[in-house]
Amino acid sequence: MNIVLIGPPASGKGTQAACLAAAIGGEHISTGALLRTEIQAGTALGERIGALVASGALVDDETITALVAARVLVTAERSGYVLDGYPRSLAQARALASAAPPHVVIALDVPEPVLIERVSRRAHTEGRADDTADVITHRLHVFAESTRPVLQWFRRHGLLRTVDGDAAPDIVAQAILDAVHEVAAPS
Ligand code: AMP
Repeated sequence: MNIVLIGPPASGKGTQAACLAAAIGGEHISTGALLRTEIQAGTALGERIGALVASGALVDDETITALVAARVLVTAERSGYVLDGYPRSLAQARALASAAPPHVVIALDVPEPVLIERVSRRAHTEGRADDTADVITHRLHVFAESTRPVLQWFRRHGLLRTVDGDAAPDIVAQAILDAVHEVAAPS
């Protein structure tokens, strides 16, 4: 099964995507993690996008789609994908839909004050360059501008399920599994 998890920064999508992939036997693909690996390894791509990612802006659609396209196609045919952090723009959503469309898109809903509090906690534990107070404000703005339309687009296509992400991780994980099972075997 091919599943997309979409949520604002610190909504828990990384944790939940890993958990979901393990539960259903799919492959977790995180574009944020792929980009951070490129940046840490100092590859040509990493050098080009480092400052951009640290600023909380989106990497351009062509670069991201080139990074994930082959992986997504192979995974969709093998075990199914659990995508985390992609698509984040309408162009990316269209590219995914024409290559290997998702069976369901899960939106994690978390109130903004909770996100801001989680990010400041994560800044201490993970030390991510894009977890500062200024950058998180920008990332929330980018989410509202570029990624909310993606949610609306998937809703229009009948693929969107919204899950309350403001709960303990195991409760959220169960709610996501319930939503996925509902799509796989509607009651
Ligand atoms: P994440 O770990 O998903 O929060 O992603 C961290 C950062 O990587 C984002 O703030 C963007 O700068 C970049 N990024 C990750 N995925 C994408 C994407 N699909 N499109 C553009 N930029 C992305």
